[in-house]
Amino acid sequence: MHSLVFIKQVPDAAQVRINYETGTLIREGVPSIINPFDAHAIEAAVQLKDKYGGNVSVISMGPPMAKEILKKALAMGADKVFLLSDMVFAGADTLATSYALWAGAKKVAEEVGSIDIYWTGKQAIDGDTAQTGPGIATRFNIPLVTYAVEIKEVDKQNKKIKVSRLIDGGMETVEVPLPCLITTEETINTLRYAPLPYLIKAAKTSVVLLNSGNTEIDAEQCGLKNSPTKVKKAFTPPKREKGEMLEGNDEKTLNALYDKLEPILKQCGKL
Ligand SMILES: Cc1cc2nc3c(=O)[nH]c(=O)nc-3n(C[C@H](O)[C@H](O)[C@H](O)COP(=O)(O)OP(=O)(O)OC[C@H]3O[C@@H](n4cnc5c(N)ncnc54)[C@H](O)[C@@H]3O)c2cc1C
Repeated sequence: MHSLVFIKQVPDAAQVRINYETGTLIREGVPSIINPFDAHAIEAAVQLKDKYGGNVSVISMGPPMAKEILKKALAMGADKVFLLSDMVFAGADTLATSYALWAGAKKVAEEVGSIDIYWTGKQAIDGDTAQTGPGIATRFNIPLVTYAVEIKEVDKQNKKIKVSRLIDGGMETVEVPLPCLITTEETINTLRYAPLPYLIKAAKTSVVLLNSGNTEIDAEQCGLKNSPTKVKKAFTPPKREKGEMLEGNDEKTLNALYDKLEPILKQCGKL
């Protein structure tokens, strides 16, 4: 069962602050981490490797400092890690990003053997679009299972996988043929502490560098000038007013609550 996990380096949201004057994020001094959903995708792939054999590769597109998260991926049980890094990718929107990652993934498959499952997190905590995974699956023309919360079973012989996924108001279980792309929720598993053998392997394994020179990536589909998304304005939403608390369980409090809700309910046609 060969897996390839796409991971993104993101600023640690717990430590990011906002400059309210400029409306921008203050990134200085903020450590970078593996996008939290992607860490669970790595763990899911490693659990399948432990159960069914195979290997786990991990790829990230980003600047040279993204090597750090790839080393962490090795410590989590990945076998090979790839960094897709080149100035031609700079300024990419999700269309250009998913193109570059798809082309990089084809190169990884040449190196490690055909891939059965591609994994991404359900979304990145900084960009938040949740478009990259679907974009990659579309380019491969393979089934896409989003918001996965449990891998039910893998039928290695018939090359099928059963996955439970979140849907509005509940959950459903789907079966798809392999290869497929799965995007993971955080609840799919619990992360483990890195065991010593994985830490040793992480120290000994190098990150394989990919760029437009050693892959078949078409520079004409990459970067800012080939990104149709145009950001018109970036701003911080206004701070919300503090809510009003009504305390008490007597008729007077109930009437006060009703007086506040009545005009809203009338406006919505509920009264
Ligand atoms: C006009 C424009 C210019 C931009 N310029 C830059 C820029 O110069 N530098 C920059 O860093 N960003 C830039 N961005 C942001 C960049 O396009 C997005 O971060 C990227 O497309 C991924 O989208 P997302 O963050 O919404 O991830 P989502 O689509 O929410 O991510 C879903 C999943 O896809 C995978 N994934 C996403 N990104 C990567 C990645 N890079 N490597 C591996 N896996 C990944 C992860 O598994 C992640 O959980 C730009 C965006 C726009 C619109």
